Amino acid sequence: MVCLVIKQGGSAALPEWKALFARLMPELEVRDWNDPTVDPAHVDYALVWKPDPGRLEKMVNLKAILSAAVGVDHITCDPTWPKNVPLIRMGGEEPVMQMEDYVLWAAFSILRDAASWRVGQQEKVWTRQDAPARTSAEMTIGVMGLGSLGAPVAMRLARAGFQVSGWARHAKTLEGVTCYAGAEGLSAFLHACDTLVCLLPETPETTGMVTYDLLAQLRKPAGLINVGRGPLVVEADLLRALNDGTLHTAVLDVFDKEPLPASSPLWAHPRVIITPHAAADASRPARAAYVASVIEALEQGKDVPLRYDPAKGY
Ligand code: NDP
Repeated sequence: MVCLVIKQGGSAALPEWKALFARLMPELEVRDWNDPTVDPAHVDYALVWKPDPGRLEKMVNLKAILSAAVGVDHITCDPTWPKNVPLIRMGGEEPVMQMEDYVLWAAFSILRDAASWRVGQQEKVWTRQDAPARTSAEMTIGVMGLGSLGAPVAMRLARAGFQVSGWARHAKTLEGVTCYAGAEGLSAFLHACDTLVCLLPETPETTGMVTYDLLAQLRKPAGLINVGRGPLVVEADLLRALNDGTLHTAVLDVFDKEPLPASSPLWAHPRVIITPHAAADASRPARAAYVASVIEALEQGKDVPLRYDPAKGY
């Protein structure tokens, strides 16, 4: 019998996981990560969110590590994670659709200056904007990172009527999106857009990439939507850019430290909209269906997409 251990949602979530997999893969043995009776050598697959450091290494017969999230930094931050075992990121339609919806909402919030309406509402002031509203066709959004999330997000923004460009390591062709690639394409990409969507993974290369100087290259009024990871953006530079008007509005879903500490000046900043790392978070049924499809493919010796590449760091 193939054995899957799960660390997501705590032991209280195990009955739901068991019920889901009983329908999807009745032959699968589903066990709790914290069950002391599970022999680590008996485990075939581990579905995990923030595994305790050192535990995966002890599962010497693991066939794959299945990330409970699209990102994997909560797994790879443990230097002992077994790098010879395939690490598969969460996929499926649901998290992609959630991310598309979130970025669309954030883009329209920036377009219509929702931050100023929020301040007006808090102060009970009827805040009419002086200038006529821009339309989506007048806003150029640049998506940094065109992977499993960034590419569909960019195309959805284009379908919604925005002018859209995208930037990644390698050249891409995406419908309705002007694509730029590599370090040589970055400056042209930045100068062509006013609102930047950060959907890069956190790697040594991308950490600290969004600096004051980078934000200053955007057209005005400039906006930032960070849904990648907090450390991609230098927080002190972000505040400086917001305070001197280089950046008009920021919609932030991810932060250096999560939950964002109460002492952070970002909370009360009138030009910042904060969400609690909530852009994309697939439901358990969607995750279980995706995991079952991955296990089935791997058991049949087939390749699966969304495999983390330790050499690239994503
Ligand atoms: P992918 O790994 O599929 O894609 C990563 C993209 O980033 C690729 O297009 C890649 O380029 C590009 N990239 C990576 N490094 C560089 C670099 N140094 N320079 C230029 N481009 C680079 O990631 P996903 O789209 O699946 O996810 C992106 C991130 O979104 C996740 O890592 C996670 O941090 C975050 N996320 C946030 C969530 C939230 O709720 N806020 C939910 C889910 C994910 P290329 O294609 O050329 O290789």
